Amino acid sequence: MQGTLRETQIHLTNPLPEENLIQNVFESLVREFKEFRANVPIGCITNKCSSKQKEQQDLSMFCGAGGYLYLYLRIYEFVQTLPEELQFFCTSGLSDSELPEFYNPQIYLDLAEQQFDAMKIQFKKERNISFLMSNSATYLLGADLYFIKKDKENFSKCIAQVLSIFANIMANPHYFQQELLYGIPGYLYMFLWINKRYSKEEGSYQLDLRSHIFNLCKVIVGNCGQGIMKCKFYDQTYFGGAHGILGVIQILLLSYEQGKDYFHLKDEKFTLKMLESISLTLDYLLKIYYKEGNIPPSAEDLFSTELYQFCHGIPGAITPFLKAYEIFNKKDYLNGAIHMSETLYKYGMIKKGYGICHGIPGNSYGFMQIYNLTKNEKLQKYAYQFLQYKQNPHVFNEVKNFQFYDRFVVGMSDNPFSLMLGSVGDMCAMMDFINYKRMPGYEI
Ligand SMILES: [Zn+2]
Repeated sequence: MQGTLRETQIHLTNPLPEENLIQNVFESLVREFKEFRANVPIGCITNKCSSKQKEQQDLSMFCGAGGYLYLYLRIYEFVQTLPEELQFFCTSGLSDSELPEFYNPQIYLDLAEQQFDAMKIQFKKERNISFLMSNSATYLLGADLYFIKKDKENFSKCIAQVLSIFANIMANPHYFQQELLYGIPGYLYMFLWINKRYSKEEGSYQLDLRSHIFNLCKVIVGNCGQGIMKCKFYDQTYFGGAHGILGVIQILLLSYEQGKDYFHLKDEKFTLKMLESISLTLDYLLKIYYKEGNIPPSAEDLFSTELYQFCHGIPGAITPFLKAYEIFNKKDYLNGAIHMSETLYKYGMIKKGYGICHGIPGNSYGFMQIYNLTKNEKLQKYAYQFLQYKQNPHVFNEVKNFQFYDRFVVGMSDNPFSLMLGSVGDMCAMMDFINYKRMPGYEI
């Protein structure tokens, strides 16, 4: 069952805000974090779900305990890297005694370590391989944690766990899914993460994964084909960020960006073919967008245009189109992304509400990314309105009462404190609004 546009979207009628945006978003962040700490115990290994479901062990980044670890390390990064001129605006919502505690990075490091330790002993053999779904992602963040703590031995153990799946993928490339959420691109995302952080380090912290990255790209392009690339998931040819070709292209572009020289040197013919296929696919999707007003979920469902969320539709397209603009220097891609942002502003305030995967904060990322590139303040205000969705009664009442057939409880996320469906994702988007780093699972 899919609703019509009028049923699933909230249209904003308020004028663009003039108040201090950062201060208000920070206050929302603090409110969410307090709520999170009150509901999610340290070292929690369950998926903290809404009532009517049985809470169960879930270690994934997507909707489980991995997201709690992600949050602790993300806030650590936030307080460590917040420029002084921004700290001035980032105090509201905190009492005089809470303020120094909030800005004490050691606290988040301790929380992250306790969270990691609690999760590590639960790991069993699994079939999942991607950042958003597998235990490898917890090891990936474990590596970051031990790097900060200067613990080489545990750092190396964590990295070894992430790398351990590589040989199996290279030997059996057709055994795995092709999409970001469950498949090989979701695994490659972790290599890009490692390579970006550690390729320029020294000694045993130094890890150059460009050849692995290149090999995984070859596997992915081999699976998706040349010309207009296809991303099959079960019996559909999906287009979107989480399941479709847009997510795959985003990962290929990030790979090329990190290993450009290596790629050309290693195999010029393949590299040019890959870039050509990416470009052809983006041109094809842009044509569909201008014709239909959105990018539908799949090639089998070309006239279904009502989904405006990261996993399906243009919210998952803006990031790769901007990256492609940077790489190909093709103005059409930037113009396309900007055009999409206006459409998204109109239809992206979705009644599903919470989280990144199919929620309003996830849709705010496109605005932030275009703002970062163009510095057009209107985009920052769009993002602000989306991130303050809980503060706008007109919007939040719609979210709280939306009869979404896919949910256990009306108006509530199934996993209210998760990274991709709940408040951890909302908090990441708020931190990115204040001091941009990356869209979780989609940028490095
Ligand atoms: Zn989704």
